[in-house]
Amino acid sequence: KTAVLLLTRDLRVHDQPALAGACANAEHVVPLFVADPSLDVPGNRRRFLLESLGDLREALRHRGGDLLVRSGDPVAETIRVARAVGADGVAVTADVSAYALRRQERLTRACERERLALKLFPGVTVVPPGAVIPSTGGDHYKVFTPYWRAWQSQRWRGTVATPRRIRLPEGVTGDDPRRVLGDAPGESPSPMRGGETEARRRLKAWLPHAAAYPDRHDDLPGDATSRLSPYLHFGNLSPLELAVTGGLPEAYLRQLCWRDFYHQVLAAFPKLGSQAYRPGAEERWKDDPKALQAWQAGQTGVPLVDAGMRQLAAEGWMHNRARLVTASYLTKTLGLDWRDGAAWFARLLIDADVANNNGNWQWVAGTGNDTKPYRRFSPQRQTERFDPDGEYIRRWT
Ligand code: FAD
Repeated sequence: KTAVLLLTRDLRVHDQPALAGACANAEHVVPLFVADPSLDVPGNRRRFLLESLGDLREALRHRGGDLLVRSGDPVAETIRVARAVGADGVAVTADVSAYALRRQERLTRACERERLALKLFPGVTVVPPGAVIPSTGGDHYKVFTPYWRAWQSQRWRGTVATPRRIRLPEGVTGDDPRRVLGDAPGESPSPMRGGETEARRRLKAWLPHAAAYPDRHDDLPGDATSRLSPYLHFGNLSPLELAVTGGLPEAYLRQLCWRDFYHQVLAAFPKLGSQAYRPGAEERWKDDPKALQAWQAGQTGVPLVDAGMRQLAAEGWMHNRARLVTASYLTKTLGLDWRDGAAWFARLLIDADVANNNGNWQWVAGTGNDTKPYRRFSPQRQTERFDPDGEYIRRWT
């Protein structure tokens, strides 16, 4: 038997259910990544993606396999490769954005036509979206705290072993991702490096400091959070493997649960990136391109807001506390549309994803899941609490 493994944002070999499943069910496995040009991935994420693919290729080769890389429509390319290698099955990790759901539907139909067995695997979240639903009715949790309780009491799947050997069909060879996809210059001068090897190195280096997380995660200059979000976004690190890592404080698991929470919100409300989630949410935004540009450039004159926006431009990442302040300033102080803020973040953030970016923006703008939608983060007060000596502001001025 031969299976094509269509890789998406599950770019790892550890706790990779689709890879493990494909290797368990088929003698030969053809790992394939297809870059869809219609997605137009911005520079920072493109660079990180290329680094992740290069690292994954090495890990696959190390186990006797390789990685095929194509550019085009993922469904058409998967079928093309499946025909070329004489595959009888396709494996893919299930995902929840509108784009991913459409891809899954089209892949299902194409596989039926081609008589290929399609198998979907978990792996993007700790608990699959839809696996816990409120006993009080409805198809998803709208409020975080009850979800957090249900999430903790849920029986999670076990982690899967990394296949020791991956066998390609005879005559099939892999591709250098850079040769197929071209180089990606990126936009930010000092970003994090992509790939599973780097993800695991960072986790190992951060774990001894994890106990300080509950007290220090909001400390802006202390920069004591794990900075694993880009690795979770591209699946360089399994969120489940991370969640079952010993030594993580509950406060950290709670943040991982927020990530799952927004994924189940997106699964139930695919328009999270374009429409207010909360029924009846008032949306009266100003049109002020100059104010928007000043915010984007970190030139509002409000020190903490500007520092956050400059960190974003420099690193393709921003501290969560600064994300809250900059987003609140754009929507609640300037009165500008959260969609414009989310689009700017999506352009620069390496970790930007449809669920977390839009879910958090809507939360801050008061159109989403916050039970106190009128809440506003005062930059002055936040500076006093989380950057009292002005160190973070100085760093980014
Ligand atoms: P840690 O504090 O170490 O947390 C561990 C992990 O938990 C993170 O890597 C992340 O996967 C998850 N997490 C933490 N906080 C949140 C949260 N509020 N919502 C969802 N997951 C969370 N996060 C993204 O991954 N992608 C985004 O596009 C994104 N956009 C955001 C936009 C706004 C306006 C705001 C306020 C927050 C946004 N976040 C987003 C959430 C959060 O800011 C980042 O996940 C966090 O800063 C990443 O840094 P870290 O890995 O050091 O986090």
